Amino acid sequence: MVGIVVVSHSDALADGVVLLAREMASEQLALEAAGGMSEPGVLGTDAERVRAAIERAMSPDGVLVLMDLGSALISAELAVDLLEGASGPVLLSDAPLVEGAVAAAVAASTGAGLAEVAAEARGALAMKIAQVGPEAGTAGAASTVEPAPPDASAQLAVRNPLGLHARPAARFVAAARAFDADVRVAKAGSSTPPVSARSLTNIVALGVRQGDTLLLSVWGAQAQAAVEALEALAQTGFGDGIDKRPASAALSKPAPASGSEPKPDPGSVLHGVPASTGVTVGPAYHLGGGPAGPPPERTLEPAGTELAAFERALLKAREGIERDREQLARRASGGEAEIFEAHLALLEDEALLDPTRAAIAAGASAERAIYDAAAQVAALYRALSDPLLAERAIDVLDVGGRVVAALTGVAPAAGAALGIVIADDLTPSQSAKLDPGQVVAIATARGAFTAHAAIIARSLGIPAVVGLGPAVLAIDSGTTLLLDGDAGTLTVGPAEELVEQARGRREQQRRRAAVALTRAGEQGALASGQRIEVFANIGTPADAVRAVEFGAEGVGMLRTEFLFLDRATLPDEDEQVATLLEIAKTLDGRPLIVRTLDAGADKPLPALPMPAELNPFLGIRGIRVGLQQPQVLATQLRAVLRVAVEHPVKVMMPMVATLAEVLATRRVIDQARTALGIEAELEIGITLEVPAAALMAEQLGRHLDFFSLGTNDLTQYTMAAERGNASLEPLLASPQPAVLRLVKLIVAGAAQASAARGRNCWVGVCGEMAGDPACAVLLTGLGITELSMSPSLIPEVKAALRSVSFDDAYRVAEAALQASDAQAARALALDLL
Ligand code: PEP
Ligand code: MG
Repeated sequence: MVGIVVVSHSDALADGVVLLAREMASEQLALEAAGGMSEPGVLGTDAERVRAAIERAMSPDGVLVLMDLGSALISAELAVDLLEGASGPVLLSDAPLVEGAVAAAVAASTGAGLAEVAAEARGALAMKIAQVGPEAGTAGAASTVEPAPPDASAQLAVRNPLGLHARPAARFVAAARAFDADVRVAKAGSSTPPVSARSLTNIVALGVRQGDTLLLSVWGAQAQAAVEALEALAQTGFGDGIDKRPASAALSKPAPASGSEPKPDPGSVLHGVPASTGVTVGPAYHLGGGPAGPPPERTLEPAGTELAAFERALLKAREGIERDREQLARRASGGEAEIFEAHLALLEDEALLDPTRAAIAAGASAERAIYDAAAQVAALYRALSDPLLAERAIDVLDVGGRVVAALTGVAPAAGAALGIVIADDLTPSQSAKLDPGQVVAIATARGAFTAHAAIIARSLGIPAVVGLGPAVLAIDSGTTLLLDGDAGTLTVGPAEELVEQARGRREQQRRRAAVALTRAGEQGALASGQRIEVFANIGTPADAVRAVEFGAEGVGMLRTEFLFLDRATLPDEDEQVATLLEIAKTLDGRPLIVRTLDAGADKPLPALPMPAELNPFLGIRGIRVGLQQPQVLATQLRAVLRVAVEHPVKVMMPMVATLAEVLATRRVIDQARTALGIEAELEIGITLEVPAAALMAEQLGRHLDFFSLGTNDLTQYTMAAERGNASLEPLLASPQPAVLRLVKLIVAGAAQASAARGRNCWVGVCGEMAGDPACAVLLTGLGITELSMSPSLIPEVKAALRSVSFDDAYRVAEAALQASDAQAARALALDLL
């Protein structure tokens, strides 16, 4: 006998319907309720409960599942996916819940087959419609019984390589929504009934791939226009472009960075760029996974108030998404920002909103309702066989998390579980939010050694491997990983003996670091006695504390842009003074070099919106921003001057390329000094990171007190290789002999300028090379006298310097100038250590 399952958001309602249907059914009928969630009385639907109910009702004749609204369908579909080795077929019914259940129970009790029971259920409204009369019969009810023929229809070939994944599906939904038309879409050859094109989730869940055909049926006044627009969109590969090769060829091409990779097998090793030293073992944790857990219980407001709060939260979440989209669009990779289109579409997705509103109406809190709905929809995505689509569960959780955050005022925590954070790439603000107490390591699909995510990982002392490729994104959350930040590898599901070895190495590293730390307070010097100042690069007052703990003799670079990353407006002069004072006090008399804002390119600031550029690394960034917006620079310089009166503060400007820029900045400083009536001298330098400035070092040095070499950008611009591009790693690896030659040129230029001016222009390094012991040795051999690095690297760099004489450092540095590439140059220095 066919079994029946009743799925509802309310356990009381499901039980009630079963009770009613039971009245008319045979005693043998397997009639099961699957209402509510596992906690009694909580509204929602639970795929696991539905699966268990189907199993209880199962017989070889099959089971008919009836559902109430919204996510009930999603849970039921997921439950069917979760079934293992079912002994009969399962059919999800689109019949009305109460009437359908009663009609189905009657039909099943008479021994009807599954198809007949389903037909009886679907026709259950007919009697009511006949009784109530045609005036009251709604279009919806009538169409449930027998839909009117569509006003227009079409078949669309799917020719873009990745099918209807999130972005093209979002374009499809947006195009369909633009018309006064009800667009329904099905995949040819699939048993899934047509779904509404108003729902991104519905469209993605069709699992449409390249080579599939979409069947469109459209009703409404603008049906024809809608079909034409969607046909035109299909011609463009839904905005992704069309792959001219046969589908099979397209599917076998390497996966794009957005990730359509198969899951790496246990024991497999992914190779990337070693970005931050250390070896560690921990569970995978996908960043952007949404809120850590359900929002806390609270006293409920009336449903109308909850609903109004929910609608307001949707608007707030929308604003947040739009802000992030603009911010990302200003960065080099404008295409990435498009993912936010999908997020915006999800905010209007009926698969997410309908169940949320229904749950609120039924008595749930707004945040709990959206949290549950997002979890349900995400589960549906995860169940899809295509990993690219399954990965989009993260987007649903992200959007749900934003709405929850807008309602509760509590932002979702980054890396909310102890583990190895996995992400496509990390923006500086994401990286900056990572809590070293929670995150044991970082593994990203993209990025390179000098990308800011890597820099921040080093400053937090978190082991990191970047540029691992898209395969890393296919790893399930919770999978045990072994990350080796020295070798640049990530082992998935490592064997126990590897884990043991890693623990041994970590212990050794800890011991070595502990030994180095015991001498971290000593002054930096070479074995032969030459003094080398070892300073810290910092971005926040908290970093200053760490800098002192690790033995920094001062701060060689305060990246002030890191103070402003998350702010909608820049702090005023007084607030900047307060922050600088806090840092200066922590440094307790040690020098502090404040770098003026280095916004633009990979460090966009929401507070300083800038027009999109074709090539932002070569565009308006660094001092160019300051000189185009002199009031921003002047405010910063006034704050620096005010603090410099009482503390040993110096200032440097980023991305200077010409003498004119040096002189223009000096004028702004002079004006600020006059306006404030400050007599005190202020040492002024530049972050020397543009090859033009290296070549003109002597000319610039006559007007400056120091050069601090930004070897990250200097390498990028010398090698014409974007610093964040992992596939260019051989060009970006340090130390490039070409860059070492520029360093030698700069040191010589500075010496000539010092002699001509009668005042020293010293040369330091604040790029990532300074914190690498091998590079540090080469740099001192070339005449560098100050090295500034992430605080946690200081003890080991001081230890390396202590072990090498100047003569040896000079000898290997001269040899490194002749090396064929970075690897060979580095090997020369490593031989000394
Ligand atoms: C550099 O480019 O080396 C540098 C120190 O500046 P940033 O990394 O902040 O661009
Ligand atoms: Mg730089």
